[in-house]
Amino acid sequence: MCGIIGIKSSDNDVIKKTLNCLHHLEYRGYDSSGIAYLDHDKIKIIKKKGRISDLEEKIDFSCETNLAIAHTRWATNGKANDTNAHPHHMGQVTLVHNGIIENAAILKKELEKKNYHFKSDTDTEVIAALLDDMVNQTHDKMEALKELKTKLVGSYALGILFDNDDALYAVKKDSPLILGLDTNSYFIASDVPAILDYTNKYIVLEDNDIVKIDTTYHIYPEQASRKIHHFTSSYSLDDKDGFAHYMLKEINEQPGIIYHLLSKYLKNDLIDLPDLTIYQQIDIVGCGSAYHTALVAKTLFEEYSDTKVSAYVASEYRYQKNFYSSNSIVIFISQSGETADTLACVRQVKEKGIPSLAIVNTISSSIARECDNVIYLEAGPEIAVATTKAYTAQITILSLLALKISYQKGLITNLDSIKKDIRHIKEVLIHLINDINYIKIAKKIYQRRDIFFIGRLIDYAIALEGSLKLKEISYIHSETYPAGELKHGTISLIEDGSPVISVITYDKIIDKTISNIEEVKARGAYNIVLTNQNITSKAFDYVIQIPKVNAFLNPIITIIPLQLLAYYVARLNGCDIDKPRNLAKSVTVE
Ligand code: GLU
Repeated sequence: MCGIIGIKSSDNDVIKKTLNCLHHLEYRGYDSSGIAYLDHDKIKIIKKKGRISDLEEKIDFSCETNLAIAHTRWATNGKANDTNAHPHHMGQVTLVHNGIIENAAILKKELEKKNYHFKSDTDTEVIAALLDDMVNQTHDKMEALKELKTKLVGSYALGILFDNDDALYAVKKDSPLILGLDTNSYFIASDVPAILDYTNKYIVLEDNDIVKIDTTYHIYPEQASRKIHHFTSSYSLDDKDGFAHYMLKEINEQPGIIYHLLSKYLKNDLIDLPDLTIYQQIDIVGCGSAYHTALVAKTLFEEYSDTKVSAYVASEYRYQKNFYSSNSIVIFISQSGETADTLACVRQVKEKGIPSLAIVNTISSSIARECDNVIYLEAGPEIAVATTKAYTAQITILSLLALKISYQKGLITNLDSIKKDIRHIKEVLIHLINDINYIKIAKKIYQRRDIFFIGRLIDYAIALEGSLKLKEISYIHSETYPAGELKHGTISLIEDGSPVISVITYDKIIDKTISNIEEVKARGAYNIVLTNQNITSKAFDYVIQIPKVNAFLNPIITIIPLQLLAYYVARLNGCDIDKPRNLAKSVTVE
């Protein structure tokens, strides 16, 4: 989702620095970009549809300045074009915005009556006009910024410049923003990776904070309680480690991350994670791949831990009627920890006094801060928009939580067998990742327009994620069905050569799924079977054999071939794998 960067420095090299930081926000997904900077006491705005490199062609890098704001836009209100790109300027105000203003249409009408003329279709330009009007009325910028929250409905992180003022201002509500601290410079940014080339010191801004940066920084109304964090990972954003894409790099990071989490939390005969046996109702809430991890967890908890779990899409959960008891807990899954719909659910659940647990990747993110308890994924920043390592890290934590319940309930009497598999999990994963046969299969299917996935129970939940990966990065239409459901309608779509990818790891109903594979074969399908079972059938055209491991570890390894298949299909199609069209990495709007 959109990226904001702003720098106020005592040095005059801010244009170069701002654009460098902006590049580090590219992974969040965007369709246009822009910059505003102080050029000899006048604010200059340059903006352009397309990539940051298109913007850079229009910039005079020799211009010396110590103040700039810049933006990568992920359009919500108005098309992706030069005019709608940020920064927006009105009267004395120039600003960049992440979020959506829900009452923009009403405000716009009122402002038009006051003779404001709008050039763009954005909600952002309305904020610029509103703020200009408020400053004109109050003659006090800080007062106007303070009042802004009473007028705006929706979410916003704003980086703001005023004419004839060399300070940088920022405010935020429900959209992420941090304040970076260096010796000569202060930064505002949508996330920490943006500023890591210059500083690892930062403050996480809270809703309704107002920041003013002149020769130093000021946070209103309350500065003292804001903790200064130090980002300590040795992570480097420019480093693809020799891999062609971040996605491939991140797929290759999975063995290390998964092994780390398993061995950190499962020591001796102890699983050092929260005890969920005290709850009678467990809801797991997420969006996209995080929702898919909730579905995998549901089948693990129910099948192997005798514990009922409900999985929900956050954008539905927040508006549906939810039933809680005194024994309920809600688990929230999010890579960024800023997913707007999930965060809204966290707030609702908190208001009702229901215990909450966050499973997130980004340290100190809003969801991490606002839940009662948090388990971090420790996967390092994920740059590719399509998640891989955060997904498997989420599955790892959820599997351990399910395993703990199973052990506590005496459904498994010792952890020896899983511990044995954990000792080898790294090699198993590395071996799977290095299998070159995915390229062979990808060559068979990459030109098809529709690809189907089927599976039952846990295999269905895993297949959903495999299909999503394929859609996200290769733009090939794909659908996933519970294997037994296909014949109730969708089988009419199967034609000669239609690829059907079947996942068969759940050993109780193998024969049933094989029958479904035979049914689609009879209608011309090209069957790819991903399995850990020793099975054959004339209906199978290609088998991806994976090793059989403990049921709690199985989902972690089963997804790997599907991630790589999606990757190679996208690569053969020449797609922009790390930055797929229309997608945003951290979805900070509803
Ligand atoms: N709602 C604003 C727009 O459409 C901001 C979008 C964003 O967060 O990038 O311009």
